[in-house]
Amino acid sequence: MAQTISRRNFLKGSVVAGASLGLSFYDSNKLGVNNQFDTIISNGVIYSGDGSQPVKGSVGIKDGKIAAIGNIGDSADQIIDAKGMAVSPGFIDIHSHTDGNIRYAQLGDSKIYQGITTDVSGNCGESVFPQSEWKSISDYNEEIERMKIGINIRSYIGQGTLRHIVIGDNDVPATKDDVKKMKYLLEEELEKGAIGITCGLEYTPGSYATNDEIVELLKVAARHDKTFAIHMRNEDNRVEEALAETIDMARKAKVRLQVSHLKAQNEANWYKAPKLIKQIEDARNSGMDIAFDRYSYNAFSTGMSIFIPLKYRQGTTDEIIARMKDDVQEKEIAKYVNNKLEQLGGAKNVMVTSAKTPENRKFIGYNVEECANMTNLSNWEFMKKILIEERLIVDIVGFSMNEDNLKMLLSHPLGMPITDCSVYSPVGKLAENMPHPRAYGSFTRFVGKYCREEKLMDLSSAIKKCTSLPASRIGLKNRGLIQVGYMADLLVFNPDTIIDRATYAEPHQYSTGIEHIIVNGVWTIANGMPTGEFGGRAS
Ligand SMILES: [Zn+2]
Repeated sequence: MAQTISRRNFLKGSVVAGASLGLSFYDSNKLGVNNQFDTIISNGVIYSGDGSQPVKGSVGIKDGKIAAIGNIGDSADQIIDAKGMAVSPGFIDIHSHTDGNIRYAQLGDSKIYQGITTDVSGNCGESVFPQSEWKSISDYNEEIERMKIGINIRSYIGQGTLRHIVIGDNDVPATKDDVKKMKYLLEEELEKGAIGITCGLEYTPGSYATNDEIVELLKVAARHDKTFAIHMRNEDNRVEEALAETIDMARKAKVRLQVSHLKAQNEANWYKAPKLIKQIEDARNSGMDIAFDRYSYNAFSTGMSIFIPLKYRQGTTDEIIARMKDDVQEKEIAKYVNNKLEQLGGAKNVMVTSAKTPENRKFIGYNVEECANMTNLSNWEFMKKILIEERLIVDIVGFSMNEDNLKMLLSHPLGMPITDCSVYSPVGKLAENMPHPRAYGSFTRFVGKYCREEKLMDLSSAIKKCTSLPASRIGLKNRGLIQVGYMADLLVFNPDTIIDRATYAEPHQYSTGIEHIIVNGVWTIANGMPTGEFGGRAS
């Protein structure tokens, strides 16, 4: 356990030391003492984040930035003793769905305890602006900064959101004018600080866009040197084709491409994972700026409505529900759902993780096969009932991926971990449902299980994948490295104990092993506990 010196005791000591040496760091405007640094993390094992081997030393922080590294003395307002501990840049989660939820977990609860100091929202084609609650990213950023946040937030603009605003939720082609409007909205948001554009092409209404329509938007992102992140049109039977068309779109637009949560879903497709990697390597070797990410688990998580065929998922919630009640269309949907369940290996592989109405909350934590038995219904009949009663908002976790593939993806030099999840908290509104454990443990599981226990890579490489590599994907120029002039987002953790604790059955459990967390120079977690200070920024 790291020791800390209280601010008061240390100030006393440094005043005496400074006076006796006749040092000239006094500032009469302040309290009579002006130390060289605000904070020093002393005597740690420093992992810079670039993948190089660590060095022993101290890190000095001044005005929120890293001011010095190495043998830097002890002139500081506060000193964090990191003896025997790893010191690394804060982790950067470039695929998050935190969006508006940061308001209900201002510290960044489930994220910060797994070491995440920067969270990137607006993924899978959906952003919470520019629409309804927040007219633009700047309104959102201002609001969350005003209420104080514990972690940094960055955001993409969702292509599905743009299409929803300009065209609506039906499967109709975009006119030239529609495309012009979407490009205009996108450009405005990029100029106000959005880091790029995302697609979620298994979701509506984004999926109704043609590839040509998407390329037009990507060109805007490319012109601003921003990133394109994509949840592809397909991640199972046609995943190779989906990846090929993704690469084609990014190539046409000359945009930086991040393939989101790369996977070969369902047992029949597991053999495709090395082929996907080959496609990405080939694109990279041809000069394309491409990489991918993946959460550290074999189960996915999404809405149960993804089981409804795309053509029946257009329009309003009422329109979709009416189709589920229509004799002819219902039969087609049932056939599609049963086929999908079979490919997933059965209804036992799909677990219900959210429901709002009291009578449906009893199904949370049970798989669809169990729920069907509990209700004396067939699998589809149960799904239809709960989808209708919950007005289509039911979250699920699906167990359909392969461990060897996961290891291959996480250890590949172009792969990096993500949560693919909103922030959660064991208390308050966000505690009500049962999230995928990745909300609490994707990064600590990556470092603790896949790096330390399974030895997929050394710690320097693992830290690079959590820091400078994701920073480079989204063009973050001043975070992700321990380097003078960079923002002071820093972790002090025990490399022998850092680990996730969240499980599918009990997800609301914080990760352990990270003792101290500094965000923009603000000591936010001390000895594993919140200090009450908030240093996060949205811009
Ligand atoms: Zn997604």
